[in-house]
Amino acid sequence: MSLANPKVGFVSLGCPKALVDSERILTQLRVEGYDIVQSYDDADLVVVNTCGFIDSAVTESLDAIGEAIAENGKVIVTGCLGKKPEQIREAHPGVLSISGPQDYGSVMTAVHAALPPKHDPFLDLVPDTGIKLTPKHYAYLKISEGCNHRCSFCIIPSMRGDLVSRPVDQVLREAEKLAMGGVKELLVISQDTSAYGVDVKYAEREWRGKAYQTRMKALCEGLSELGIWTRLHYVYPYPHVDDIIPLMAETGAHGMPKLLPYLDIPFQHASPRVLKLMKRPGAVDKTLERIQRWRSIAPDIAIRSTFIVGFPGETEAEFEELLDFLDEAQLDRVGAFAYSPVEGASANALPDPVPEEVKQERLARFMERQAEISAAKLEAKVGTTQRCLVDTLDGELAIARSMADAPEIDGLVQIQNGFMAGLKAGEFVDVEIMGSDEHDLFGEVAFDD
Ligand code: SF4
Repeated sequence: MSLANPKVGFVSLGCPKALVDSERILTQLRVEGYDIVQSYDDADLVVVNTCGFIDSAVTESLDAIGEAIAENGKVIVTGCLGKKPEQIREAHPGVLSISGPQDYGSVMTAVHAALPPKHDPFLDLVPDTGIKLTPKHYAYLKISEGCNHRCSFCIIPSMRGDLVSRPVDQVLREAEKLAMGGVKELLVISQDTSAYGVDVKYAEREWRGKAYQTRMKALCEGLSELGIWTRLHYVYPYPHVDDIIPLMAETGAHGMPKLLPYLDIPFQHASPRVLKLMKRPGAVDKTLERIQRWRSIAPDIAIRSTFIVGFPGETEAEFEELLDFLDEAQLDRVGAFAYSPVEGASANALPDPVPEEVKQERLARFMERQAEISAAKLEAKVGTTQRCLVDTLDGELAIARSMADAPEIDGLVQIQNGFMAGLKAGEFVDVEIMGSDEHDLFGEVAFDD
């Protein structure tokens, strides 16, 4: 497998609106694993975001396209001038694709066709959903690359290196542009969100005239100024995670929670010995205490976690410790994997591998135990009113997500009268929950009498 990411050059011309489009496309490219490069020579292809407002802008845009074709050869054109494709084709018949402003989908489709993304299930932060652009109303916000941990089952640090955090003002500016462009939910991602800023010693930067540290809590406080949802993913269970829980119970701009009461925190196991073999933090009794404390501060908090069963050396008793942990922790959403060796991971050298059929049998028992817990937790929501964000309309139904549901990985809320209520994608709505199954909730728009 080649380790190099596909490389895209980007030329952005025009007004602030075009800049928002550029930011959206750049964010999506980065999230999908493309590197953004600064020279035509380094790029595998070039995207030119054009302006067509006045004649001089048209000339400038056509010149920029010509330069990119001469220097690189593979060019995708988008933006305002894209509304006049004949004019572009006449001057530059070799462009790969032309799309108009705010047409992120066409740009990404053209990029995928000319330069397919590399999906690697061990390295990618975003679920592989085929080639699909994030809907306009939610966006991934990548805050850092790399990781300082050395979990024995993981090869990310050896491939991506140690943690490199993006400066907080840069992240906040990107988030601000996304919010201005219509994004209603930000999904903060990194390899290790809670370590954000350690590498830059939590350097202070200014945004909107106020100082913010490059640190998870300060970042969340900044994002809460935008008045949209912020959801944290890949939070490593450090003690200082406790500091952000109060934000989940506070109200920020536009009456939104300062931080969604949602934590994606991979615990991986619950046996102290297995956790030690995995090189993960191992104080399980403290983890349970912390979960209780989090719930006492933010009672609605939804906790999603992932676990590995059948790790080398895991005994039946240790696996049962894990099942007991599930019973006590009452997590909302859980993903689990049967351990499988990843080439280059240090765990491969551990003794006593668990036989494949035992791994599969444990995985099935684990999933069965958690399914009951998740189903009961969803059932407990029947009769409540949940604030939801509409993702799409499907016939009479609106398909939405509650604060407890991250896109792609968690459940959905089916709103039975969504069409009748005139709901639109990207809209917030209060839903009366009337039913549940193992994954999803069902309800109706709550109308005031
Ligand atoms: S914290 Fe995550 S990315 Fe870092 S080494 Fe562990 S599993 Fe890999």
